[in-house]
This record gives sequence, structure tokens and C-alpha cells, in this order.
Amino acid sequence: MTSTITHWADGAGYDGTSHLWADVTNPATGDVSGRVALASDRDARFVIDSAKQASESWAATSLARRTQILFAFRELLNSRKDELATLITAEHGKVHSDALGEVSRGQEVVEFACGIAHLLKGAQSGNASTGVDVHSRRDPLGVVGIISPFNFPAMVPMWFFPIAIAAGNTVVLKPSEKDPSAALWIANLWKDAGLPDGVFNVLQGDKVAVDALLQSPDVAAISFVGSTPIAEYVYEEASRHGKRVQALGGAKNHMVVLPDADLDLAADAAVNAGYGSAGERCMAISVLVAVEPIADDLVARIAERTRTLRTGDGTGDVDMGPLVTKAHRDRVAGFVDSGEQAGAKLVIDGREVQAEGGRDGFWLGPTLFDHVTPEMDIYREEIFGPVLSVVRVSSYDEAVALINDNQYGNGTAVFTNDGGAARRFENDVQVGMIGVNVPIPVPVAYYSFGGWKRSLFGDTHAHGAEGVHFFTRAKVVTSRWINPAARPAGGLELGFPQNV
Ligand code: NAD
Repeated sequence: MTSTITHWADGAGYDGTSHLWADVTNPATGDVSGRVALASDRDARFVIDSAKQASESWAATSLARRTQILFAFRELLNSRKDELATLITAEHGKVHSDALGEVSRGQEVVEFACGIAHLLKGAQSGNASTGVDVHSRRDPLGVVGIISPFNFPAMVPMWFFPIAIAAGNTVVLKPSEKDPSAALWIANLWKDAGLPDGVFNVLQGDKVAVDALLQSPDVAAISFVGSTPIAEYVYEEASRHGKRVQALGGAKNHMVVLPDADLDLAADAAVNAGYGSAGERCMAISVLVAVEPIADDLVARIAERTRTLRTGDGTGDVDMGPLVTKAHRDRVAGFVDSGEQAGAKLVIDGREVQAEGGRDGFWLGPTLFDHVTPEMDIYREEIFGPVLSVVRVSSYDEAVALINDNQYGNGTAVFTNDGGAARRFENDVQVGMIGVNVPIPVPVAYYSFGGWKRSLFGDTHAHGAEGVHFFTRAKVVTSRWINPAARPAGGLELGFPQNV
């Protein structure tokens, strides 16, 4: 049986009027499991309007009430997260434990946003000038649009909407059309938590829906996460329409292993971070930079571990699931062909995998390349699949130069037992998120997530203090209240006010 995945507006499902639908597939079987509505311009206006109508009263809702609803949402999410993880596995393909991990990392942001009353406190200065006080406050923006990628259908939207809503904004979420059900499930959960209708909305669709959000005069800000070409487009188009925008793009994350590192720790980390979620993570390690003379030893340890991995249906007891669509699976397999043709040494070939799942699933097993060089496509392009490339270098400086020459700057890691080398690495690399003996350094919710260079367009990162900043704007109020006992006050003075 296939499900129908609609938009969500005014606190209810909305079919839209476009009569356009896209198939949603189960990547472990290849079967069509549902159809998702694709918005027309008119449908987008209807959903944005729902957010606009709710905007004024939600912004005027007390901090106490907003916080209570966030707490209720957190409690419901915590008790029902298994259901959400099951939905994610069915449409994305990642294994259930990984889907649960994604929900938990999103939940951290909800927990952070429960402290909104503290986070929104302004400053106050009494008697800044004689009889004059100054205070600052941060107000919501209005309607904000969130456009998310397929690879984290729950966590990435949760980087943004808990803070946006807690700060008094209303939200239109445009999820990926590849795995759109999580967004609807979340919309229902908000309703159960007591969120007023219209505060959280879902707009399903493709470029038409995205463009409607970017161009609508009723949308004040856009948070986008996806591939770099689309991030760049979204940044330019939303800016051109006068919006505040943060657009997080693609990545090519390097993990440097120095000769003094613990090679077992490094090999475990490379396998976990290279193949977890089938490499469909923006913080996945796709390049391992081995600083000689350890490369032979390290590659042998990684290969040994990789050969033990089981690929299959994420509902079962396996390590790695399928890729999200057949087209994406074929694109990644094309990179394996290209690496082989370019002369990289194919140590493990994922094209030959015997998967524990449906015959027509989108399978590609863990793939390991050695002797990869920076001119090869498999080094230059973001593959976004279970392909780990080993580049051998002879010095620390060569490793850092590779990272800094790369167009992306999302995440990177160094493995070493030398504190001085790790500190130097932290200073030297032009990357937004750095791990020291930690391969996937995704910051906790109370810090901010974001890359440098072509991994982020805009200047504000997601969640943490920067997230609160992004979803609010400042007012500074300078006030004088007359003390009747101290009259006369005021008087004529046409010069520029000075503080005395
Ligand atoms: P994508 O760019 O194809 O899609 C992202 C969103 O943009 C989706 O909602 C999609 O419907 C929409 N979209 C697609 N084509 C569009 C177009 N032509 N015009 C307007 N909108 C369009 O990305 P994806 O394949 O869903 O996700 C994978 C990518 O996301 C990878 O590049 C990955 O690195 C990146 N990503 C980055 C981060 C980060 O934090 N930097 C996090 C997760 C994913």
C-alpha cells in the first residue's frame, strides 16, 4: 500500500491544487512506498499564508507559554522517537540505530530552545545619561522558510525550527521530496504538543516550492541546507529578494592521520565516519590523508575492518543501508568506475556487494581507494556515498595544504597523540568544524554548526547562539521618564544629544 504525503497548513494536511505528485521509494526494496505532493505557486502561497496569519499572535504569545509547548514537544518526541526513526529508515534507507541517533541530535536542539527565555534576555543600563535608560531586546522576524536535504530528514530541520519557533517566528518547512514523511510526522507532533495552528507548516515539492519561498514578500528569512550549487543559488536569490539567509552547502572532509596516532583508533574512526549512513552525511570523512610512513599499515587495518561490514535493509541487523535513490546509487558507482580508470588502487569494490535486502534495492557496498591523487575526480568532487579515498602525503604541511586548497571547509579531523601538533592543526586549517581524535565533530546544540568557504553562504551558522541571532532582530530602546518631583524637565536644545 502506498501512502499519500501532503502539505501541512493551518494545523491540518493539505493536498494542494497542483495535482502533481512524485514517487517516494523504499531504497532497500526499490518499491514505490508513497507519493508526495509537489506544490504549485498557488499551493505555496496557501501554505505561506497559513504561517503569515499565525505570525502576529504567536509573536505576542508569552515566553512562558512558548516554553511550555516546547517542553511538551520535547517530551512527546522523546517518548515516540522510535516511530520517527522507523519512518526515516523506510524512506532514506539508513539503519534504524543511525536514524535514532539523528533524531536524538535534533532533540538536543529542542532542549536548547527550551531555554529560550534565558537566550532572549537583553541588556539594560540604568541612567546611561542623566535620567535616561537604555535596554536592548530581540524580536522575531515573522515567517521563516527552512529548506532541507534528503540525508537528515529530521535532524537538519531540527537545527532550525525549534529555535525559530521558540523565538516567536512561524515556520514553513520544505523537506526533500525524496523522504518527505518525517516532516509531516513532526507537524502532527507539534499539534499534539499544543502548538497553535499555522505556526509550523510543511510545503512539499521541488524547485517551484523553493522559488516560491525565496521570492515571497511574506517570508523574512531562509535557512537552507543542501548541495553547494543549490546553496549558492538560494543565497543569491533570497538575498536579491531582501531576505536574511544562511545556506549550508556541500563538503569534502579530510581526516589527517599523523605518524604518532593510535592506528587502531584511527582505523575504527575512518570506517565509522566513512561508511556510516552509507557516506550520505555532510560530515562524513571522504578523504583519509595518511602522513607517511604509516599508510600501508593504516590501509591494511581499515581494509580488514571494512570487510566485516554488512550492507542491507536498515530494518535488520546490518551496519550500512542502501543509497537513497537508484539515480544516486548509479552516480556514486560512476565515481568508482572513474577512480579505477584514473589509476587509483581499488582495495575494496562496493559494486560487488552481496546485500542483505531486496533484489531491487539501491545497493553499493563500502568502497576503499588507495593512492588517490588530488587531480582525480574522486578526490575533487563530493561523492556523497560509501567511498573512502586514501591520499598519501609525506609531511604535516602537505596534509594541511590539501585541506586549505580544497573548495569546501565543512569539517576536518586530525588523529595524533601530540597535543602541540593538534593545536597547530586547529590554528592552521581553514575549516568551520574540527575534530581532534574525533572523526565527525558535529558541535553540540549549544554551539553552532557551519562550515567555511563553499560549505556555507551567509555569515551565520546553525543553532547555538548564532541560531538565536539568526531568527531574531535587535531593537535598542533609549528612554526617559519624567520625575514630576524634579521638574522642570526638557527645554529646547537643537544640538546633537550628548550624554551627560
Ligand atoms: P539538494 O541540493 O539536491 O537538495 C536540497 C534541497 O533543495 C531539497 O529540499 C531540494 O528539493 C531542493 N532543490 C533541489 N534542486 C533544486 C533546485 N534546482 N532549485 C531549488 N531547490 C532545489 O541536496 P540533497 O541531495 O538533498 O542533499 C545532499 C547535499 O546536502 C550534499 O551536498 C550534502 O553535503 C549537503 N548537506 C550539507 C549539510 C551541511 O550542513 N553543510 C548538511 C546536510 C547535507
